[in-house]
Amino acid sequence: MSALRSVSGNNSAAATEAYDAVVVGAGFAGMYMLHRLRGQGFSVRVYEQGGDVGGTWYWNRYPGARCDVESMQYSYSFSEELQQEWNWSERYAPQPEILKYAIHVADRFDLRSDIQLNTRVDRAAFDESTSLWSVTTSDSKTVTAKYVVLATGCLSNARMPEIKGLSDFKGKVYHTGHWPHEPVDFTGLRVGVIGTGSSAIQSVPIIARQASRLTVFQRTPNFSIPARNAPLTAEERETFRARYPEIRRFAREEARNGIYTELPDRGALDDGDNERRAKYEARWNRGGLTFMSVYNNLAIDKAANDTAADFVREKIAEIVGDPETAKLLQPNNHPIGSKRICIDTDYFATFNRPNVTLVDIRSNPIEEITANAVRTGAEDYEVDALVLATGFDAMTGSVAKIDIRGRDGRTLNQKWAEGPKTYLGLMSAGFPNLFIITGPGSPSVLSNMIVSIEQHVDWITDCIAWMRDRGLDAMEARTDAEDKWVAHVNEVAHTTLYPQANSWYMGANIPGKPQIFMPYIGGVGAYRQICNEIAANGYEGFAMVAAPPVQQRASS
Ligand code: NAP
Repeated sequence: MSALRSVSGNNSAAATEAYDAVVVGAGFAGMYMLHRLRGQGFSVRVYEQGGDVGGTWYWNRYPGARCDVESMQYSYSFSEELQQEWNWSERYAPQPEILKYAIHVADRFDLRSDIQLNTRVDRAAFDESTSLWSVTTSDSKTVTAKYVVLATGCLSNARMPEIKGLSDFKGKVYHTGHWPHEPVDFTGLRVGVIGTGSSAIQSVPIIARQASRLTVFQRTPNFSIPARNAPLTAEERETFRARYPEIRRFAREEARNGIYTELPDRGALDDGDNERRAKYEARWNRGGLTFMSVYNNLAIDKAANDTAADFVREKIAEIVGDPETAKLLQPNNHPIGSKRICIDTDYFATFNRPNVTLVDIRSNPIEEITANAVRTGAEDYEVDALVLATGFDAMTGSVAKIDIRGRDGRTLNQKWAEGPKTYLGLMSAGFPNLFIITGPGSPSVLSNMIVSIEQHVDWITDCIAWMRDRGLDAMEARTDAEDKWVAHVNEVAHTTLYPQANSWYMGANIPGKPQIFMPYIGGVGAYRQICNEIAANGYEGFAMVAAPPVQQRASS
């Protein structure tokens, strides 16, 4: 099973390469998947459409791009040597450093020989007679594999907005999620940024410092907390590293979102006004995503949530000089945290600069883009360059681009037409031996992605090795188990405030996309336990097919 087999159907010259597993994507998920499967002696081919490894960190090169989870935690934990030797320079490492880390991992673990870059997987079709997948790539080659693992990432399918006239614009147009590899200099230019999600919130302060004039077109304001980014000292790194065993254990087993932090033991309304304000103030000053874990009921109780939302709205009013601009920047149509909270460095203060203008396109929508301007009902805003910070077709977008055909030739897109259906976010009934890393139905984007990636990769590796040990040919989610899981994911989501926001978690940012809360909100610790129990019970809810005897296989 371990060697790469080259088989030829009828002794013809055109041999089909055969692997135990094909992995789609060489981001953090695909690289670790390769490392683990290889370690078990499986032959693996990884296809990556980018020109290097790194996934989302390869594409998202916009000014100011950083992770919103602290780097000491947003990093692999599988190798003690790696986590002890890599020196993160800042609390939140910038994109080039995270990419450098990904490249280091590829080289350090000698992964490159099994990764084919600049190659998209276009099609994967399951052959029921052989229980093998045929995988066709953009270089017009087809290989076979017993297993296909989709490590395609949740936020890797940049979405161009459908705005009339966009193609007529004469200046340069950039998408934050598909940024050029060569430096972009906005010095002396009039720049328009469309969108005010995390990507815009990180890039706007930097673009504002370069551009002669920056116009930000906002449809929906977002809650943002200061990052309080700072260089990491050698001493801070050492202290952190010494505590890694406990920090990593906590992130995996106890944290809801895979991030080490204090677990709140009380609700927001259990404290009096002054005490509550002091706690919010302390977290605001500390900075970062853990603002949302001051209290244990901010995600489930609207009155509690309002106290945190009001606090942030007040902060915005304090920071932004012009009261009208401050009011426009105050989010008011969704509970705080029900859209992914943003982390910024000087975002709100940027609107105090004389060269920055905020345009409310909720009340005055963009009508069209002309050769040199963004036209709203009220005005033409002349710009030399446009930055589209308009987000992604999240969680399902990258999978949907691949023509995946399971049993009876049914495509995954047909099956997911009314929303993604998976068992544990790991497999979808009708698609044997096809695994998804951090797929819809798992904690995924609600968590520190690397914690969830490592959990899925370990589970998948153990599962494939378990099948090999028992001579099993195929594994598939059972429809009844899948239906039950989908209902559970939905039920848990609706015990929270999350579905109240028109977020990309719900698919609401893509016209026509079914609106279903995609990630599993039960928490990474609880989810891990469920996955482990299912495995310990012989992969409950999955159907296993034994390999046919050798002579039967040979004659079929
Ligand atoms: P996003 O959160 O989906 O934001 C897209 C923005 O574009 C929204 O303000 C949206 O407005 C606006 N928009 C979309 N289509 C538009 C149109 N046709 N006309 C006008 N405005 C339009 O995308 P993102 O900022 O790229 O962030 C996506 C996710 O990536 C984040 O939530 C986060 O998970 C991840 N991310 C993380 C980091 C980090 O780690 N620090 C950084 C960047 C991104 P509406 O809200 O009204 O739709």
